[in-house]
Amino acid sequence: MSAAPTQTGAVPSWAGSLPTMFDYSARYCQACGDPLRRKILLGESNERLVCERCGFLVSLGPSVLVLTLIFSQEHILLIKRGTMPYKGKWAPPGGFVETGESLEAAAVREVAEEVGLPLSCEQMIPHAIVSLPRMNQVHMAFLAVVDAPIPLHPSLPEVQDARWFLEQDYPTESMWGPALGFDIGRLFDRVRTGRFEFYQQTEDTLRVITADSCVHYLSKTRR
Ligand SMILES: [Zn+2]
Repeated sequence: MSAAPTQTGAVPSWAGSLPTMFDYSARYCQACGDPLRRKILLGESNERLVCERCGFLVSLGPSVLVLTLIFSQEHILLIKRGTMPYKGKWAPPGGFVETGESLEAAAVREVAEEVGLPLSCEQMIPHAIVSLPRMNQVHMAFLAVVDAPIPLHPSLPEVQDARWFLEQDYPTESMWGPALGFDIGRLFDRVRTGRFEFYQQTEDTLRVITADSCVHYLSKTRR
């Protein structure tokens, strides 16, 4: 059996110091238990893991992570992570989209699970989409505004604490790696004015689409 290939590499700034590796570690068919083979299927260009006995195809992602930046009366909601990676760091609530879920429903579920705050899918305003092909992940960030900073109920032990932070108290120094690049002042400003923006990041581009429908490149690698 050939060794499982591994992809590594640098990730965009937005991804901070997240792990940069994923691997094709599945070896046996989930359906029938036969060894999986690496094959390029007719009409496709990339190798996939397939079971030649029953035809099962391994889905290799990407995994989709949703995050929600929740604002209320000059506060932002953050949770203190209780699990690795970034245990003990502050982060927006979020998690991976489950099978059959919409992005919005996953974001709503994660917020409810982590801090007991009920939101609706309609409250989720798209804020950023970040493709991280080297990590085999896509991150989708939503922004939501709620009327009052109601009491939070952190779900121990996954969530050690949950608080509403004023802009001046935002814990920059102890934030979860992927959030280190957030321009929190700009975010608060956008929420105050209601002039929302959309960020789009790929491996070589970071651009922002503003309320005037203009597209501004914040960074772009020349090829
Ligand atoms: Zn099989």
